[in-house]
Amino acid sequence: MKLINDKYCSWINDLIVRTNIKILKSNEDCEWLIVGAGYTGLSAARKLSELNTDQKIIIVDAQLAGEGASGRNSGYLVDTTLNDGFTLKKELSNYKKKTDIYKLGIEVVKKFIKEHQVDCDWNESGKYFASSNKKDRKILENFSKTLLKLNFEHNILEKDDLSKRLGTNFYNLALYTKGGILLHPGKLVRAMVDALPDNVELLENTQLNEWSQNNNTIICKFNNHKIITKKIIFCTNGFLNTLGIKNNYNFPLTLTASMTRPLTDTEFKSIGEPKEWGVLPVRPMGATIRMTKDKRILIRNTAEVYNPFQMSKSDLDKRSLNQKVGIKKRFPGLADDIIESSWSGIVSRTKNSSQIFEKIDDKVFVAGCYNGSGIGVGTLFGEQIAIKASNKDSDEINIIESRNKPTWLPPQPFLNIGVKTRLLFERFRSRSDV
Ligand SMILES: Cc1cc2nc3c(=O)[nH]c(=O)nc-3n(C[C@H](O)[C@H](O)[C@H](O)COP(=O)(O)OP(=O)(O)OC[C@H]3O[C@@H](n4cnc5c(N)ncnc54)[C@H](O)[C@@H]3O)c2cc1C
Repeated sequence: MKLINDKYCSWINDLIVRTNIKILKSNEDCEWLIVGAGYTGLSAARKLSELNTDQKIIIVDAQLAGEGASGRNSGYLVDTTLNDGFTLKKELSNYKKKTDIYKLGIEVVKKFIKEHQVDCDWNESGKYFASSNKKDRKILENFSKTLLKLNFEHNILEKDDLSKRLGTNFYNLALYTKGGILLHPGKLVRAMVDALPDNVELLENTQLNEWSQNNNTIICKFNNHKIITKKIIFCTNGFLNTLGIKNNYNFPLTLTASMTRPLTDTEFKSIGEPKEWGVLPVRPMGATIRMTKDKRILIRNTAEVYNPFQMSKSDLDKRSLNQKVGIKKRFPGLADDIIESSWSGIVSRTKNSSQIFEKIDDKVFVAGCYNGSGIGVGTLFGEQIAIKASNKDSDEINIIESRNKPTWLPPQPFLNIGVKTRLLFERFRSRSDV
């Protein structure tokens, strides 16, 4: 099955169209093959080239590099994610491990943008976990206790304050965390494509169909040609399953999002001219909604079991209509035809929200599955899996490997039935905030 992305993502449409696209045109041999060119694969390639200067490194992507989830996400580089408050010591220490990884993720992205002078609309604006449902106060108070114990600066805000800051009366309360960055995901990943070193060959529109091991080599089959490699790193995130990687530990979900055109000066004034902000939902299936630096509103309010290879235009249009309703609920005064683009993207999930970072055997490595928080963690895991695959060690690897490992999932069709039921239930619980 061929991976075909929709072409409607505003983040990607903001970027200059690339012209230097190379595809696989003949059989190739290499020392290293990286599959998938998002934050993870591109970061792995950067690090591998630094550690193995005289070796041949190829990175392939089924579509254009960086135009999968990495170029089409909501742009929250997170320091914390909402967990219903942990009181037990063991749970607190697990949550700390998770946030330690987020912290390293932020540092590694910061280092990259500094070194390469990247303009990706970086804004250390913090973020809001907001709800229109007064009953969610308990969840936020519990979360606040966890954050206090771990010294994350934050405060709870009430409706009046929120309406001034966000320009909408929709939310009743929120927990604001000072850490966390908003950025332009497309600009960040494009900078990673542009920063690929000379000893890395990028081949795009080059989808790996099959791979097998034979003695000391790995044979990778594409449409018309093969690549024979000594080592391989899988960085295909939501597509790990389609290549038979860790099938019982992760599954793909399809998310859809929409973005408005920039608000006019009159529209922006009518909502009180708020500064750039980002809201995450208190309940998992509520809407993520963001006011961008250039006054556009982004909304993401779906997560579904759907064919990850392609979403039809008519299905995307249905989700876009639903997102228009989400925007109008929060900003009733805005025009009906304000949405400029809608798109879909694939994430990878595990049962216990842990990530995959693994040496499968001496020649096969995998990093991925960030449960919707992959900007920082993907960049970190990409670099660190390259270090691990080069038989080197680092403090970061020790921190990553001390996290909980992903837990086992039931086989199909039970998995999809279970996930769909859970999503329906969560959507019902989040219904006021979709
Ligand atoms: C709508 C949406 C909103 C999100 N919001 C956020 C957010 O605000 N903050 C955050 O941190 N994260 C967010 N995420 C998640 C984040 O985008 C991902 O975790 C991150 O991009 C993962 O990076 P990656 O490089 O591992 O995977 P990807 O960017 O998915 O890259 C994998 C690449 O592998 C390629 N590939 C797949 N199969 C093959 C094959 N057989 N052969 C060759 N290539 C193949 C794909 O084409 C793709 O380019 C969001 C995701 C979506 C979809």
